[in-house]
Amino acid sequence: MDLDLPAEHQLLRRTVRDYMEGEVAPLVDEHERERRFPRQVVDKLGEMGWLGIPIPEAWGGAGMDILAYAIAVEEIGRVWGSLGLIVAAHTSLGCGPILLAGTDDQKRQFLVPMASGKVIGGYGLTEPNAGSDAGGTRTTATREDGEWVINGGKRFITNAGQAGTYVVAARTGTTDKGAAEISAFIVPADTAGFSVGRLEEKLGLHASATGELRFDGARIPADNLLGEEGKGFRTFLTILDGGRISIGALALGFAQAALDAAVPYARERHQFGRPIGSFEAVAFRIADMATEIEAARALVYRAAWLRDQGRDYGLAAAQAKLYASEVAGRATNAALLLHGGYGYVEDYPVGRFLRDAKLTEIGEGTSDIQRLVIARRILDLRVQ
Ligand SMILES: Cc1cc2nc3c(=O)[nH]c(=O)nc-3n(C[C@H](O)[C@H](O)[C@H](O)COP(=O)(O)OP(=O)(O)OC[C@H]3O[C@@H](n4cnc5c(N)ncnc54)[C@H](O)[C@@H]3O)c2cc1C
Repeated sequence: MDLDLPAEHQLLRRTVRDYMEGEVAPLVDEHERERRFPRQVVDKLGEMGWLGIPIPEAWGGAGMDILAYAIAVEEIGRVWGSLGLIVAAHTSLGCGPILLAGTDDQKRQFLVPMASGKVIGGYGLTEPNAGSDAGGTRTTATREDGEWVINGGKRFITNAGQAGTYVVAARTGTTDKGAAEISAFIVPADTAGFSVGRLEEKLGLHASATGELRFDGARIPADNLLGEEGKGFRTFLTILDGGRISIGALALGFAQAALDAAVPYARERHQFGRPIGSFEAVAFRIADMATEIEAARALVYRAAWLRDQGRDYGLAAAQAKLYASEVAGRATNAALLLHGGYGYVEDYPVGRFLRDAKLTEIGEGTSDIQRLVIARRILDLRVQ
């Protein structure tokens, strides 16, 4: 699978895989069962430089490329989906906007501690009434006495309650056409008037925290405006393009985990006096999984490579995320069915893979929204 990858990337994959299988895998079940955020593991990843893989060394990161980051997220997600999501949200969504739009002072103050793993990042775009239509943001930010005052709330925010720094979208005005003019802000977790509300009980990814952010007259310094006033939505759209590569990589990890569980089971489980893998229905299921996973991997790595080359990667990222997440859905479902009744009980991890994989068809834009993005780019229609 890694034949054409540079040696540096192959080494990273081996290192992450060894660490995840050796040190982290034994901790997964307990944390998932108790819905406990893996703080110690996250701190350890920070110490190893894995919370800032694609961030330049000058800003506290490891200075590797997006392909390396995608491989790391894939390998982390292959063993523990919750940890993969924590890392992806922290890196792409927490660090990403500050790297993209931050001033040098903001990078020194906020990005360096995040990329070096001392502070976890979170990203607040989604609201109760603004999900796929993120432009419908209702949270507001107004200037008062040289500060920004934020009011409103966010929903479904990864790393809620665990992050020390949040990047948040808020409405700062209205455009001539009546649409929300959105700006981006950096909100430290200890800001007065800011709090974390309810944490969600989710279908899967139980050890990752997902929750509400509340802004009740939260006051942040004028300097915490990220990028130009009114240009925040563009920043967020760019960040979502990049984030799709990491969600695609996470999906790839889930799909690979499903295949890696299905293959030995198909060899070892006997029915009718034969290994079930000798029945064509089972064997073809494995063949389809393996083929789709390689196609998904090619799409995800291609999107990462395009981005690393400084080329347009928006379409490729949407295609990679759409395809990889749907492959993850099919592969985890197939692995569960292949385990029969054992797939439905907790003795095997395939149920967890299926529950976790569903998120990849929803977060960073649902599959419908990916199709919308892809079709718009291809059709290029201007319909009023
Ligand atoms: C575990 C988890 C973690 C998350 N982490 C974060 C985070 O860190 N930060 C953050 O900001 N958000 C986060 N989200 C939110 C996530 O991005 C949204 O849930 C997602 O974008 C969908 O928005 P929604 O839930 O409001 O669904 P809706 O937008 O209400 O969509 C409902 C359905 O309608 C469909 N639909 C909507 N509009 C269209 C359209 N124009 N065409 C076709 N179909 C359409 C959708 O595809 C979907 O099937 C997270 C969500 C989850 C579940």
